[in-house]
Amino acid sequence: MNKNSSNIMALAPNTSNKRETVCIFGTGDFGRALGHKMIQSGYPVVYGSRSTQISNLIPKDAEVLSHAEAAQKAAIIIIAIQRQHYNFLIPLAEVLHGKVLVDISNNMKLNQYPESNAEYLAQLLPGSKVVKAFNTVSAWALQSGTLDASRQVFVCGDDVEAKQMVMNIVRALGLTPLDKGSLLAAQEIENYPLQLFPMWKFPIFLSLGLTAFFFFYCLALDVIYTYIYENNNFSFFIAITIPNRVCPVMALILLALVYLPGIFAAIIQLYRGTKYRRFPDWLDKWMLCRKQLGLIALAFASLHAVFTLVTPMRAFVSWRTSKGIISQALNNKTEPLNNTNAWLSDSYLALGILGYFLFVLLGITSLPSVSNNVNWREFRFVQSKLGYLALILCTAHTLVYGGKWFLSPSAYKWYLPNIYILSLIVPCAVLVVKFVLIFPCVDKPLTQIRQGWERNPKYSK
Ligand code: NAP
Repeated sequence: MNKNSSNIMALAPNTSNKRETVCIFGTGDFGRALGHKMIQSGYPVVYGSRSTQISNLIPKDAEVLSHAEAAQKAAIIIIAIQRQHYNFLIPLAEVLHGKVLVDISNNMKLNQYPESNAEYLAQLLPGSKVVKAFNTVSAWALQSGTLDASRQVFVCGDDVEAKQMVMNIVRALGLTPLDKGSLLAAQEIENYPLQLFPMWKFPIFLSLGLTAFFFFYCLALDVIYTYIYENNNFSFFIAITIPNRVCPVMALILLALVYLPGIFAAIIQLYRGTKYRRFPDWLDKWMLCRKQLGLIALAFASLHAVFTLVTPMRAFVSWRTSKGIISQALNNKTEPLNNTNAWLSDSYLALGILGYFLFVLLGITSLPSVSNNVNWREFRFVQSKLGYLALILCTAHTLVYGGKWFLSPSAYKWYLPNIYILSLIVPCAVLVVKFVLIFPCVDKPLTQIRQGWERNPKYSK
């Protein structure tokens, strides 16, 4: 067989509208689903299988041949077979020489093998051009057509032309190829489907930990303390009162934690006098999950808004209001309107509403469909400037509401500060340091460092 001539012909660009035959090794779930989609998109499909018997599961217009016969009919061969069976390809090395082999395989565990499956395939068949693709798309999504969530197909490979051919197929199937570079990226691509919300892990664990801490803190001070020392049973506070204290506290602290790593980064850059040194790993990871922290903070703020809206419906609130009215009637005395209190309550509500509005705006602009439609400057303006404004408004909202507890000795049950005092520590620290950082004498060198200036350049001109 003249293998070179057949391969040159196979890799030549297709100038006619007719699609080239694609070969799929393996008639399992994925091979069938991909073959079905390819036939729909106009590709002639030939299967290479251990059994050439046509079953009714195989797409109607596809041919089923032996591996060697099928491989001869196409320039691109999709290996829809698990890695542990790749050894059967070794005797086919000659027929597969120069062909594009698409590795679509996944593993059961992260970093299961020392090298990626695609690199392993390339080692087994050094004469073939291995491209990694399609492993993040599921057979079910291909077959049912519900590909909205997984339209992106990561592609990588060492041969540019082979990669381009695979990317053309991806596009023809109505999917979006994303070039991830050389075959070295295959390990990372193979790890994607095995990860469980990688960017959400830290924010979720942190939120769960802090929520549990603040919940038990409130339970101790608002329910257990009042039961022991005031003989009042306020256990029903667990349903709405305590969650409505924990949610705003969490929203404020998490919003501050979105801006805290930026503050640390600025201090580190000022201290080092350069931006050309890596941040510590913990800071890098923290920076990467700021969006998730912000979205969880928004969820807590939304819960706080809902809990607050249902307040007038609560039996405890109606009882307290009628108790006040009855006590005024019994004493035959009408309490005059306290103007200071009215001001405080209205400003606290106004600050909360404005803060929440900006919070929602930050959440909306972090959605990919929105952030893709604004330029970098607009995105930074919203996330940084409006984000800090949201932090200022929400901190002021808490200060106006909780400020009265700062000096009152009754707020220190068991010598512990009120939850609102605790919630203000991180946001106030962030705002104070940010205020210092925008002073021209600090801001100027920081801006210069971020533009590439170095205090002690490593490579002097
Ligand atoms: P499957 O249903 O088990 O099919 C695997 C196919 O491999 C079999 O049907 C068989 O085809 C062939 N095969 C099995 N043992 C073999 C051997 N010893 N020698 C040669 N061929 C053998 O698996 P699948 O779900 O289609 O997955 C196939 C590959 O796609 C896997 O690497 C998987 O990680 C990847 N993948 C699957 C999905 C998915 O949603 N299923 C998604 C992304 C990636 P013949 O009987 O025709 O020879």
